Amino acid sequence: MQKFSFDDFRQQGSEIDALKKQIIEHRLVHAVLITGQPGAGKRSLAGLIATSLMCSSEGDIPCGECDGCRLALAGEHPDITVIEKDNPISPDVQKGRATIPVEDIREMIRLCSRYAYGGGNRVVMIPDAENMTPQAQNSLLKILEEPPRNTFFLMTTSHPEQILTTVRSRCRNIKLIPWDENYIKTILVSSGVEQGIAEKTARVSGGSIGNAIRLSSDDTYWKLKDEIVKAFFENRKRSEVLNISTTWKDRKGLSDQLFDILEDTVRQFLKYRLFRDRKDYPEEYSKEWQRFAETAPLERFALLTDSITSARKQNASNVNFQAIIEQLLLTFIGECELWAE
Ligand SMILES: [Zn+2]
Repeated sequence: MQKFSFDDFRQQGSEIDALKKQIIEHRLVHAVLITGQPGAGKRSLAGLIATSLMCSSEGDIPCGECDGCRLALAGEHPDITVIEKDNPISPDVQKGRATIPVEDIREMIRLCSRYAYGGGNRVVMIPDAENMTPQAQNSLLKILEEPPRNTFFLMTTSHPEQILTTVRSRCRNIKLIPWDENYIKTILVSSGVEQGIAEKTARVSGGSIGNAIRLSSDDTYWKLKDEIVKAFFENRKRSEVLNISTTWKDRKGLSDQLFDILEDTVRQFLKYRLFRDRKDYPEEYSKEWQRFAETAPLERFALLTDSITSARKQNASNVNFQAIIEQLLLTFIGECELWAE
């Protein structure tokens, strides 16, 4: 797994540099809320801040070598408390809850009243902070209003609207933006991913570094994607629909992945259509789809995405999966026919 440095986040702007400087100068505010889409790197940044707060190096932070860094990186630092819905810290809370209940926050407050083992900073991490119940958030608010010395609260969420305004206003808010595709490619290559895979992954990552890292090592995904490209984006005949749809008959479990891949592909075509960036053209697609991507009016793109949305809805209401696939194939084949020479 990729270990991040503050440098890796430089594409996010000067705010990240400022953050690092504040940690070095012991000026970091005691509560930070990191927001951004899933896979934007929120947890990685929170982990980086936590490790830096435990690092005893006089030089660059986190050094990755001192005791503080090593314990933090191994997830074993006694002064870092992580609160997650499926990992309760209070003995009174059962595992497997869908929320972070107030008991966990009370237990955390109790822990924070003790001295830090390392004698320095203490960190409380709450990833997916929207999982806190309103009662838990109110309880957290109290400690945010009067934080113990040298205690830092690091929260992340993709749903800031589900965090109480009173809590949000007590935090420094950092919003991560989608990552540049070329930059994602560079990071993947530097962590040992093969160039070709890195390129393909960066393209479908939707600006999500988390997605990209996960997908780059997921062979099943790439096999499935190849199969879907062959079925939906090669010059198919209507007489082939039944054969192809039969291979999908018993694979309803893959429906979400199928719909996601189709949507991503149409989005890639649209991006190419709008920005005409040559390097953006996904070369694995047929001539017909290239013409589509170059010249189709925008409503043709909408027609395809609408057909996927409606397939999702039908699938959710248990329409026969093979029938859904047949309908989708006919829509895509029909579109492809329009762009044949
Ligand atoms: Zn260190």
